[in-house]
Amino acid sequence: MRLSRHFLPVLKESPTDAQIVSHKLMLRAGLVRQTAAGIYAWLPLGLRVLRKIEQIVREEQDRAGAIELLMPTLQSADLWRESGRYDAYGPEMLRIKDRHDRDMLYGPTNEEMITSIFRESARSYRDLPRTLYHIQWKFRDEVRPRFGVMRGREFLMKDAYSFDIDEAGARHSYNRMFVSYLNTYARMGLRAIPMQADTGPIGGDLSHEFIVLAPTGESDVFYHANWETSVAPGAVDFDDAETLQAIVSGAVADYAATDEKRDPAREAETGDALRQSRGIEVGHIFYFGEKYSKPMGLEVQGPDGTKLTPHMGSYGIGVSRLVGAIIEASHDEAGIIWPDSVAPYAVGLINMRADDASCAAAADDLYAKLNAAGVETLYDDRDERGGAKFATADLIGLPWQIVVGPKGIARGVVEVKRRATGEKIELSIEGAIAKVAS
Ligand code: ATP
Ligand code: MG
Repeated sequence: MRLSRHFLPVLKESPTDAQIVSHKLMLRAGLVRQTAAGIYAWLPLGLRVLRKIEQIVREEQDRAGAIELLMPTLQSADLWRESGRYDAYGPEMLRIKDRHDRDMLYGPTNEEMITSIFRESARSYRDLPRTLYHIQWKFRDEVRPRFGVMRGREFLMKDAYSFDIDEAGARHSYNRMFVSYLNTYARMGLRAIPMQADTGPIGGDLSHEFIVLAPTGESDVFYHANWETSVAPGAVDFDDAETLQAIVSGAVADYAATDEKRDPAREAETGDALRQSRGIEVGHIFYFGEKYSKPMGLEVQGPDGTKLTPHMGSYGIGVSRLVGAIIEASHDEAGIIWPDSVAPYAVGLINMRADDASCAAAADDLYAKLNAAGVETLYDDRDERGGAKFATADLIGLPWQIVVGPKGIARGVVEVKRRATGEKIELSIEGAIAKVAS
């Protein structure tokens, strides 16, 4: 994409209405704009990041055996009356009336809807186990929307729902999601720590939050120092119950808790290795048994002919919040530093001298070659000073910068800079393409 034809409204000044660094940088780098309190438009660069995160989430859900569908944002209040949550949910639910005076709502979550969809078609124990998911916008009328997309009112969530014939099956589905979450965050360059959590309004008896450490996070967290170096499990056999159980119990055995759950006995055990930080909740998983299936009358025929009530779990990932969380975890004074996996483009190609014909021709040629090699490139071909182009490139944080200048071109070289380290090397055109494509 040529920057001269793009829509990338960067801000020179730091916006005063943003309190935390990710929010400031998302506004400055032209990723989002607020359109109402806690509601954001995703501008082209921000949308590309959102889509990449969404795609990683999708691939890892698919790998863990979950099946994608798409449910609507608007829901009928009647569904929520069946579960008893319509009155219980409170003012966070945006309630709407249609022209026939029917009660509707903008979904804050989808347990009721998925239960009713599954109820209509699942007949026998052979239809289970199943885990279904979608990636869809949610609305929660938060009392205090703040920190940009981190605590919005409208936000994008991946929510998955599992249906199993009994508790043992449901725990297996839960463990499968737990392990796939560790891999999902690792692919985005994040280390997310699973913490035992309260189940809150979703209800149930087994729950973990996944927390990314960041000084600006909203939760106080306590964890074992091992978590600073631990890695994701990588390729695992999701059907192998013992391996999954071992990974999950290994992860949970290391001390990790949010403030409310802080346990002095564990603290004594952990000793010197106890660490305290702030954290951002990027995911939350629940096992809640028959909480929705029972009141909503979801039943299937068991192997012996008797009816059984499926055990369910739900599994959320804050897709739009992750954009902010990744920036909190990866930035410097000059701007964002995108991990390769979620960067809006891999390369920022900078023509130092748009007014120099041979320099412009060389940059155009390199741009065509990068496109042909399948390297996602943002080409700064604007008629601007080199300094302004460097500042923009650092601000928007693409992993690689390739600088084409008249002196280098005369010698047949360009400069390649790695945004994360600042390391610069001179390479031939072919060498530069090979470097960024690797
Ligand atoms: P929080 O405790 O941060 O309010 P929650 O526990 O109410 O979140 P869940 O119902 O667990 O949220 O939703 C699943 C995920 O959706 C959360 O882990 C979080 O990443 C994301 N999420 C929840 N609320 C918001 C919001 N207002 N803005 C952006 N993302 C959110
Ligand atoms: Mg939560």
